[in-house]
Amino acid sequence: MRIERIEFEIVEIPRRKMFVIATGSSDRYTGVIVKLHTDGGIVGVGEASPSRGVTGETPETVCALLPEIEKKIKGLHIEEYEKIRERLNSIKGNSAAKAGVEIAINDALGKEAGLPVAKLLGLYRERIPTSITIGIESREETLKDAERLLGEGAKVLKVKIGLNWMEDIERLKALRERFGYGFRIRVDANQGYSVKTAIKVVREIEPLDIEFIEQPVKWYDVAGLAEVTRASPIPVMADEAVHDADDLLKLAKARACDMVNIKLMKCGGIREAYLIAHLAERLGMECMIGCMSETRVGISAGTHAALGIKNIHYADLDGHIDLEGDVVKEGGVKTENGENSVPMHLPGIGCGL
Ligand SMILES: [Mg+2]
Repeated sequence: MRIERIEFEIVEIPRRKMFVIATGSSDRYTGVIVKLHTDGGIVGVGEASPSRGVTGETPETVCALLPEIEKKIKGLHIEEYEKIRERLNSIKGNSAAKAGVEIAINDALGKEAGLPVAKLLGLYRERIPTSITIGIESREETLKDAERLLGEGAKVLKVKIGLNWMEDIERLKALRERFGYGFRIRVDANQGYSVKTAIKVVREIEPLDIEFIEQPVKWYDVAGLAEVTRASPIPVMADEAVHDADDLLKLAKARACDMVNIKLMKCGGIREAYLIAHLAERLGMECMIGCMSETRVGISAGTHAALGIKNIHYADLDGHIDLEGDVVKEGGVKTENGENSVPMHLPGIGCGL
């Protein structure tokens, strides 16, 4: 089945509430939905969720690149994945745009085979607990949100930190004081701390049973990340510092982290995520599949990856939850009682638009 053309559309969806992290704030999501048409009538669906700060992309750069990608892969069979990958990788950077196309290729391959992507990858689990994220907000707001989320069945909360370390510690202490230890907490500083502050914070929050801390210091400060990792009593997970397998090798060499947050938008798609996860397994590192703000197209793709790859021990696949609406009208990821699953009777990523 040959690739004929790539259709794409910018979507803009408001959030239920303003979302604040250490690097900025936003009240809406803007991304690009990709449809890959084949001559056999199968249409693969994907999503590019660009992030200026992390992938260096905007919806406009994605839309400018997609016709270039179309030129490069037009006429190839969707089964010629390695050739498609070779051509995608001939483009530097632009990982979210490439992920949008790569997800659509996987969706089309699944539809052709009559199998969900999770099964094509190597189905390891049927569902996975996902963290639900609480942005940087006041102690009272944090408690209010946690009460609602735990009431809805959340098993893991991911608390954003990194703007004010004293308030961060207070919010985390308040969560345990109010709600106890019957749920998991992980934290994400989004590069917001200095090395010294990060070490102080991880030592302070260690008694609060924190699962891990994501990216405490700047993405480029590999030596700093290594220093925090050496000093930290809780595992340190690299996020912004690891986009692809080469980054992982660099960090592993410097013993700079214990774990890795893999995102389809950072690495360029589902099979790149598979590659990083398997490399990390050899290096003795557990992985999480995380996400950007994404509709249920991107989150479904991420969930298929999380279910299909053994070395994915954690999921942070909640980017769709605080959006006011969605492009997926049927099928796709389901988040119930704090766990993500996908319909195994639907082929590809299983999203009907
Ligand atoms: Mg993160």
